[in-house]
Amino acid sequence: MIKFIFILISIFTVGFFIVKDTWMVTLQGFGYELKASVLILIVGAFLLFYLIHLLKKPFGWWGRCQNWFAKRKQDQKEAFLLLALKTVLDKNSESVKQLLKQKNKFFDRKSDENYILEALFNPTPHTFEQLIHRENTELAGIKGLLDYAQEDGNWTEAGRLLQKAAEKYEKEPWVWDSLWTVQILQNDWYEALNTLERLKAQGQVDKAEYAKRKSLLLLKLGRVAEAYKLNPDNQAIILAYARSEPQKADKLIRHLWSKEPCMDAFNIYWQTIATEKPSKQTKAIDKLVRENPKHRLSLWVLIETAIKQESWGPAKGYLSDYLAMYPLTTQIAHLMAEVERQGWHHLEEAQKWELKALEAPSEKGWICSSCGHRTDTWEIVCPACNAFGEVIGK
Ligand SMILES: [Zn+2]
Repeated sequence: MIKFIFILISIFTVGFFIVKDTWMVTLQGFGYELKASVLILIVGAFLLFYLIHLLKKPFGWWGRCQNWFAKRKQDQKEAFLLLALKTVLDKNSESVKQLLKQKNKFFDRKSDENYILEALFNPTPHTFEQLIHRENTELAGIKGLLDYAQEDGNWTEAGRLLQKAAEKYEKEPWVWDSLWTVQILQNDWYEALNTLERLKAQGQVDKAEYAKRKSLLLLKLGRVAEAYKLNPDNQAIILAYARSEPQKADKLIRHLWSKEPCMDAFNIYWQTIATEKPSKQTKAIDKLVRENPKHRLSLWVLIETAIKQESWGPAKGYLSDYLAMYPLTTQIAHLMAEVERQGWHHLEEAQKWELKALEAPSEKGWICSSCGHRTDTWEIVCPACNAFGEVIGK
């Protein structure tokens, strides 16, 4: 459009200039005189305007020049970034030092890129702290500092950083996941419950995982009945529920025994029959063992019951059966010593078994299914690998 107007005005001007010279004006100044057509002056002004217009636009020869320079600079920046990444991956500290010096040629000292490169080349709490104070790099800064806090086991600081991230970047999935982990490690059960709801709302935990986590948190908060209602098949929950409801304990423990027997379960079961006559006890124990007759602990239950009832003959028989199938442990050696001493007054034999008890491996009742770490009591979080809800009674 602009071009069209220019062409039109130019044609008219030239025409008038040729046909008449009544449109001439005289310009005076600096001792010179210049005669010119008014229209030529107008066209001149327009031409000047057009030239400025051309220079501003990124096309035409000047625009191309500008583009070329910009692209060259961009290429240089990209080449530098590529080199930077490669150097960091190579862990070549000498080259890193050199690049740190060069980066100011390509990036403004106050630019996001500069601070990111600082953190990349020289990852320290300080350089990540710098990232935190900038809008575009805040999250990267939080992530970096979070790594340091977790490495140091500083869960308070990790929790603080994650709360900050959760407020501003609530759509980032890793924030809630990490917050959950930190809260669990800090024994923040109430807060963890809230975080769990978030994880569920964002679809990060499925129904089964949600029920498992929530029920174990409720257990930790002492809300045993609620926990049981939500997750009636969990071993730790059944044990706690059986303790809190002695009338239901025998049924609960038998159900547990069919799935995942453990020594704690037997102890609770025994409480329900401890004051009964031996014949009734034997009947109840038989009922329990029938739930899972091939299980190692069913044999152990028979040993323990025989010893409690001072039936030394069967006790020794069961112990021999046990040792024929399973390796000796401190606990079994102690039982053997007890039977020899109390049942048969074989003090020398008993002493031999006590010595063996010292050398045999001790069998702790709880094992983490993730890493195999053994503990004496149930733990919601494995002390060795921090796995949640993986410690199972054996
Ligand atoms: Zn573990």
